[in-house]
Amino acid sequence: MELETDQQPSSGLRRALTTWFARLPSWFLLLCAAFAGLVLLAPYFGSLAAVARLLAWIVGILAVLQFARRAFGASPGATADAGRDTPAIETLGGRLLVSGKAISRKDMEEQLRRLAFHDPLTLLANRALFRDRVEHALAVSKRSERGVAMLFVDLDNFKTINDSFGHSEGDRVLSATAQRLSKCTRSGDTVARLGGDEFAVLLENLASQEPVVEVARRIVAALREPFPFLNSDLCVSASVGVAFATRDDGVEDLLRNADTAMYSAKAQGKARHVVFIPEMPDVANQRLQVEAEIAQALTENQFQLHYLPIVELRSGYLLGVEALVRWRHPKRGLVAPGEFLGIAEGSGQMIELGRWVLRQSCAEVKAWQARLPEGRQVRLAVNVSVGQLSDSDLVGDVSRALEESHLDPGCLVIEVTESVLLRNTESMLVKLNQLKKTGVRIAIDDFGTGYSSLAYLHRFPIDIVKIDRSFIERLGGVEDGAELARAIITLGDTLGLEVIAEGIEHEDQQRELVELGCVAGQGYFYAKPGPLQDLEQSVHMKLRRTMADTLPEGARFTATGRFLVGSLRRSEPEPMATGTFGPTSHK
Ligand code: C2E
Ligand code: MG
Ligand code: MG
Repeated sequence: MELETDQQPSSGLRRALTTWFARLPSWFLLLCAAFAGLVLLAPYFGSLAAVARLLAWIVGILAVLQFARRAFGASPGATADAGRDTPAIETLGGRLLVSGKAISRKDMEEQLRRLAFHDPLTLLANRALFRDRVEHALAVSKRSERGVAMLFVDLDNFKTINDSFGHSEGDRVLSATAQRLSKCTRSGDTVARLGGDEFAVLLENLASQEPVVEVARRIVAALREPFPFLNSDLCVSASVGVAFATRDDGVEDLLRNADTAMYSAKAQGKARHVVFIPEMPDVANQRLQVEAEIAQALTENQFQLHYLPIVELRSGYLLGVEALVRWRHPKRGLVAPGEFLGIAEGSGQMIELGRWVLRQSCAEVKAWQARLPEGRQVRLAVNVSVGQLSDSDLVGDVSRALEESHLDPGCLVIEVTESVLLRNTESMLVKLNQLKKTGVRIAIDDFGTGYSSLAYLHRFPIDIVKIDRSFIERLGGVEDGAELARAIITLGDTLGLEVIAEGIEHEDQQRELVELGCVAGQGYFYAKPGPLQDLEQSVHMKLRRTMADTLPEGARFTATGRFLVGSLRRSEPEPMATGTFGPTSHK
């Protein structure tokens, strides 16, 4: 490895001399000094040639200086020894820097060794050193009969932190995580950063399994605490996989088992630890397989769209539909988005999939609108991911989808999640404003579940707020259950935003929402998502009945050209495949 120094090289002769002197042993230098002393005293012993005297002076002085340098370290003579100067590697704010400060060769070697085996950001052991330690621990354990365990630690919401606060804050979170991990472990344990937001801990010389589980618990608890410097209640939380080494395990086996247990912890709801058992599926591999399958599904048109009606609560009019992607998997049948969107987002495939959803839904809804009574329009809501908004030309994609389908831009609503608000950056604001300029409206989805400050709301060009299902669940019975929903509805009113309640499942929830002044809603009480033809058929059927004035009992209101809530009820949609592809939204 080459390191740069800001010191000037010394002259060739001086360097040659100093190098030569540097190599001389101390006893020889002392001998030279003694010889010089003898020569200086020569007049008292007889006559010597002037040349020999001059030589003796030079050799004597250099010898004394060199000796003094060795004896006292940084003596004046040492600074002249530029040929041996080496730059020091310092850490500043957790990063490695190179400066021109002179240090000894031993220190230099030590620093280079640290550089090769430690993660520069957190200063923890890196993957190479960790593997080395695990190998050693496994070898020792075979002789000593003492146990070895590994913890695989993966942060749960790290992507949200990076997306919301930027990479420099992300780095601070990683450094703080490293400190918390070190505090949770004993002095003999090895804590390592394997890369990204993945950490690992090696515990050796174990008499039982309890201390390992205790360390895993401590880690999960420590990472549940918010990071004060983020100025947010956002907790990162960690999923921890625990694996105990068996006699035949090598480094790879132990790493894979701990990783598998970690994925299982994610699949069980994150922020927990799970101990590996051999029956666990190899989820990391499955994830790669799903990525390959998604790529194939994109080329073979295996994705399709279901639509969820959005209604006006008081009257029951159909206001529009929300497009929800489904995967018609050749072996597994219909697969819900929660099972593959996280993987698609992680692999970058969400951008292509999202583009398809936009184009397809605009085309399908435009075709439907053409079959509606004249002047009647329904709006279309399309979900977009944070990655689509930040890493792709979403404005271009939306414009193209509108252009190709001839859908009125006023009919299109783009739903983004709350974490977008947290990315309180100029570029996000610019993107959302550009999006608005295309004529579409913007909705904040699942409002209340993220960590956005309500104060951010007015900064962004938002038209609609969708109250998350978790707040609607509390309605219709639970004391004080309506407080949060009421607060969001009032806030929406104050800011002039439309509020849509998500996940209405019961009539009393609908009633309470109407009392609270909520205008629109969606949920299984009205209909489950299904293909557009199903929705269209039931709507048309009811429309005809309505015109013939044959309303079913309990229906409240109808008007020509508008649709009835009750009319949206239809046969149960096709069940979706159960089981899992492994982790869903892993980050
Ligand atoms: P979302 O946008 O909040 O969509 C509503 C989800 O709640 C849908 O789940 C819907 O089926 C479900 N839901 C609606 N009413 C009820 C109810 O009364 N009770 C219950 N228990 N659930 C209800 P789904 O289709 O599984 O979608 C889940 C999430 O996946 C969506 O949440 C959305 O965030 C995301 N998603 C779906 N399609 C897309 C897409 O095309 N692009 C992107 N980026 N995300 C999508
Ligand atoms: Mg949505
Ligand atoms: Mg939602």
